[in-house]
Amino acid sequence: SKEELLSFVIKCANFAAEKHRNQRRKDIAQTPYINHPLGVANILIQEGNVFEPVVILAAILHDTVEDTDTTFAEIEKEFGHKVCQIVQEVTDDKTLSKAERKRLQIEHAPNISREAKLVKLADKLYNLRDLEKSVPIGWTNERVKEYFEWAKAVIDGCRQTNPALERELDILFARNCDTI
Ligand code: NDP
Ligand code: ZN
Repeated sequence: SKEELLSFVIKCANFAAEKHRNQRRKDIAQTPYINHPLGVANILIQEGNVFEPVVILAAILHDTVEDTDTTFAEIEKEFGHKVCQIVQEVTDDKTLSKAERKRLQIEHAPNISREAKLVKLADKLYNLRDLEKSVPIGWTNERVKEYFEWAKAVIDGCRQTNPALERELDILFARNCDTI
């Protein structure tokens, strides 16, 4: 029902807010971390025209396992198998080195589900817009550039999924990546 869906969305936003409560983004303003997952879900709805509840819930939860003590078991119990599966598909294995994690994102992107690709498109769009607005403390322009190039390689594996989101990403890539 409508009531059930709305209840799930708010429970999910509250869960993510509690989990991320001590975290901040890397921007100079040290924005509360929860702005990011909520912003990713908002991009999916307002710009991507994505209204599938499992995708929106997965977007809100997408960094909880990677960045907090949250387990997949907890997500499955509270939000169900499908949401948990999407979150798993967009979660890096933190036992691997940063370089390996970044390489695997490029390698795995073409093989993830359509739902996981939607979350990835919105996640990268949010992060790249953040980077264009303000360079994180300690980041050189070269590092920002490398991040854009890497994000483009990941997104190239997620294409033909959502034209509106891909168009917005391409605007950012045109300004910040080397052209072929
Ligand atoms: P990080 O992975 O450390 O940081 C980027 C991630 O931080 C984003 O993917 C995003 O992830 C999160 N994030 C938080 N706040 C912001 C924000 N304001 N804007 C954008 N993203 C934000 O950085 P790198 O991707 O650079 O990863 C490290 C890699 O960088 C290493 O592999 C190394 O090769 C390279 N490196 C390069 C240096 C250089 O000077 N060239 C120096 C050091 C490392 P989320 O969506 O999960 O929140
Ligand atoms: Zn994210």
